[in-house]
Amino acid sequence: MNQSNTQAMNKIRVTIWNEFVHERTNPVVKNIYPEGIHGVIAKVLNQQDEFQARTATLEEPEHGLTAEICEKTDVLTWWGHAAHDEVSDAIVDRVQARVLQGMGLVVLHSGHYSKIFKRLMGTTCLLRWREAGERERVWVANPGHPIAEGLDRCIEIPNSEMYGEPFDIPAPEEQVFISWFEGGEVFRSGCCWRRGNGKIFYFGPGHELYPIYHHPLVQRVMGNAIRWARPQGVWLNPAAAAHAPIEQARERITSKGPQLHDATGSLQV
Ligand code: ZN
Repeated sequence: MNQSNTQAMNKIRVTIWNEFVHERTNPVVKNIYPEGIHGVIAKVLNQQDEFQARTATLEEPEHGLTAEICEKTDVLTWWGHAAHDEVSDAIVDRVQARVLQGMGLVVLHSGHYSKIFKRLMGTTCLLRWREAGERERVWVANPGHPIAEGLDRCIEIPNSEMYGEPFDIPAPEEQVFISWFEGGEVFRSGCCWRRGNGKIFYFGPGHELYPIYHHPLVQRVMGNAIRWARPQGVWLNPAAAAHAPIEQARERITSKGPQLHDATGSLQV
């Protein structure tokens, strides 16, 4: 195998998913993201050797998330806003299963209300918001965390949409960022969870009317988050994880007491 193949194998395979609606319908958004939010994020990642990014959008067959593409994705990022309900439940099932196996998921901004995020969190994921173009300071709450690598004390975003508490999520397992907004609110804007073998990161900034994904430190967080969320252990094999009895113990034991199951494993009632 030549060296370029070896390098390609070691790259983190990222799929950047975007519903890609506002960039085509709103002239302000179109002007900021002529190639779509997904286009900007993928371009930035592909300028870095360690990532191999592709894009997928709502209108593609199976929303661009075929079984084969999910199989070849280490980390999926998700941006959606206007069309959450148009995402098919079958694709949500597929993405959820893949996260449980070990795929990382980075959910961005209004993706907080996507079907996949609500499914994985199990709560409403509702929050408070205000669209006033106000200043946001994304404070680093956990400077030793890999997702905060290379950042100073905070990221200053001159114009942002306010997202505020209460944010109806399960308590994050790790809190990386807490945002302050000019109007006075605060928001848990960088949160980590694990579901099955997969890691999930939610990142608050990213309102489509402001050039937030062009901000170099936001781009830095994206790279850090994808690196953190990549599968680092062994993928969970669904067949191996099946609910099955283990008849033979590793050590010699004497079976004691009555059993509810017969020799075939069937439940006797
Ligand atoms: Zn927004």
